[in-house]
Amino acid sequence: MPLDRDKCTCMLDRCFCLRDRAAMPMMAARHACVSFLVLVAVIMAHQTTAKPSPSDYATEAQSIINSLLPGGSCADQAWHKLAALTDTVGNRVCGSPSLERASSYMLSVWQAEGFDNVHGENVTVPHWQRGDEECTMLSPRLGYRMQILGLGTSIGTPEGRPIEAHVLVVRNFDELAAFGKAGQVQGKIVLLNYACDWSSNPVGCYGACAKYRGEGASRAARWGAVAYLVRSLASASIGSPHTGMQRYASSKAEDQIPAAAVTVEDAEALARMQARGQDVVLRLSMGAQNLPARQARNVVAEWRGRELPDEVVLLSGHLDSWDVGVGAMDDGGGLVISWQALSTLRALHWRARRTIRVVGWVGEEFGGIGGRQYFDDHREEKVVLVIESDMGAFRPRGLSFSGGVDAASVMADVGSLLGGINATLVARDGKGYETDTQPWKAVGVPGASLISENERYFAYHHSHGDQMNVLQPGDMDLAAAVFAVTAFVVADLDEALPKGDERGEGEKGKMKEEKERQRMRKGNAGSGLAVS
Ligand SMILES: [Zn+2]
Repeated sequence: MPLDRDKCTCMLDRCFCLRDRAAMPMMAARHACVSFLVLVAVIMAHQTTAKPSPSDYATEAQSIINSLLPGGSCADQAWHKLAALTDTVGNRVCGSPSLERASSYMLSVWQAEGFDNVHGENVTVPHWQRGDEECTMLSPRLGYRMQILGLGTSIGTPEGRPIEAHVLVVRNFDELAAFGKAGQVQGKIVLLNYACDWSSNPVGCYGACAKYRGEGASRAARWGAVAYLVRSLASASIGSPHTGMQRYASSKAEDQIPAAAVTVEDAEALARMQARGQDVVLRLSMGAQNLPARQARNVVAEWRGRELPDEVVLLSGHLDSWDVGVGAMDDGGGLVISWQALSTLRALHWRARRTIRVVGWVGEEFGGIGGRQYFDDHREEKVVLVIESDMGAFRPRGLSFSGGVDAASVMADVGSLLGGINATLVARDGKGYETDTQPWKAVGVPGASLISENERYFAYHHSHGDQMNVLQPGDMDLAAAVFAVTAFVVADLDEALPKGDERGEGEKGKMKEEKERQRMRKGNAGSGLAVS
């Protein structure tokens, strides 16, 4: 959807309009033209002068914020851009035609908007297809149809036919091993019902639970299980299962059994049944397939720098999603606030000294494949700062930052420009979730990710509930303001943000990168796929 140029340049347009009215009083005409000249002067200033300190950019930051606040010339655009993408294309799972349609869609709207260097970059991505899924209880509640979602990379049930088996509910891997040693896993469907206290830890629980989704199927398979079910990783539930990636330990048949998520409610019900001594029997049918890898495209647009176009500040989110819901929150919102930041600077006619680039990654949900490919292809470029949003474009609080102490000090000054929208936080907490920009950060490139009021994120994550109504237009505008101010100031400063620091974070980063590569290789050997 092309930007509404008239709306975004309304100050200019009003001035031209007023000037042409013969009947307009002289005072108003003079006022209008003075406004016009001031605006031109501000624009000219940005075409020619860089500044030494973020605090010198208070006026520019306020102009960006004003244009995105309610009634501002660029307000409400981000949410509607995301709605147009998700309404038109829907969800965008790796290897699907809809992901390709989404890439084409993004490139065409970016071209129409007049960005620079709009193009796609090929990435080979896995192609997993869910197929039909059905899980019916045969005992004790005969005929009860459970809601399930197969996990990404899971195989289907043998020859697409149902498995009928008794269920064993365990709370963690230690219990699984204990039952395994006792010979009680053989021939069963294992349900891993790990209950984290999401109410007190609505985001952090995800990390604590992720291994049960990621590794459980092969662990259960080794003890002779015929299928693996996992309690959904969800901070709240209204009977919706949440999918996600899993990884088999190897490509050997004995490590691979069908794996799916069940709802929190059903997991708890099955645990109660077992505790009561009731015999739980399920019939499970899954048509999932891992098909040959396919080509997809990272999508790229720039607002080229006026003096140092080869130096880059990168803004990003991932374009791919799971195949349920519409992927509005994860991560259409992250990509669109990056896009909106670029649109806002374009509407203000401000070009920074350095290039600001937006990238929409593909393959994130299958292990940051597009981000890794991009790093391998562009690592020789001078990338000054990588920014990503992949934890929900909710009301922003600031940024999680990783980098050296000198860069952190500059970023803190940039953050202080966002006091008007209460988003000044620049946290060096190591909590940034940034799968796709991680390779850059691992070699010492400063990186940041959005911190927002995302306590509800895991209520919708990877479920049918990831829809447009999860995000609010005003919140997305503020998040776009954080990205626009940060990207513009860092891209325009006299000095590039320093890479690494005197404590040798660059070196540490290289070691981390090598470790990451080894992990990816291990993942590839096991399943043909890498997993984050
Ligand atoms: Zn995501």
